[in-house]
Amino acid sequence: MDKERKKLLKKLCKAEVERRSQELKDQLKAANPADLSDADAWMANYKTGTRREQWLRKKLPTLHKKRLEELFVVHPCNSSGWFSAEGNYLQCEDCGSAVPSVSRARLIKYTGCRCRNIIYWRFFRWHCWKIRRRERVITVKLIGRG
Ligand SMILES: [Zn+2]
Repeated sequence: MDKERKKLLKKLCKAEVERRSQELKDQLKAANPADLSDADAWMANYKTGTRREQWLRKKLPTLHKKRLEELFVVHPCNSSGWFSAEGNYLQCEDCGSAVPSVSRARLIKYTGCRCRNIIYWRFFRWHCWKIRRRERVITVKLIGRG
């Protein structure tokens, strides 16, 4: 690896760490298990993870457990209860599904977790969350796996 590349990689890594809080370090390691000394593997993972996060932001999909774990590392937010904010997901601890906490749908939308603990409805300007077991729902952020 030449010097310039090493520099770039260091910069990227630093920016990435700064962008996210310190607490995310473990999850980042899980999201990108490649060692920093193996620049090619690390960069490839980084790109894959970033692509997945871009896709997530664009589509705001509901993800059920299997797909969720395949594509993302789940990072619980430290807040108590749940709150809606762009980029946050609500995870049902019973079935493991993650539902976007904010919907950009404008017309009709129906989504929810697999066990129907979390249900979201939108019908034009009317929308509603139905959460049966609130204590089993946590707010999470999703980090793209590389
Ligand atoms: Zn559920």
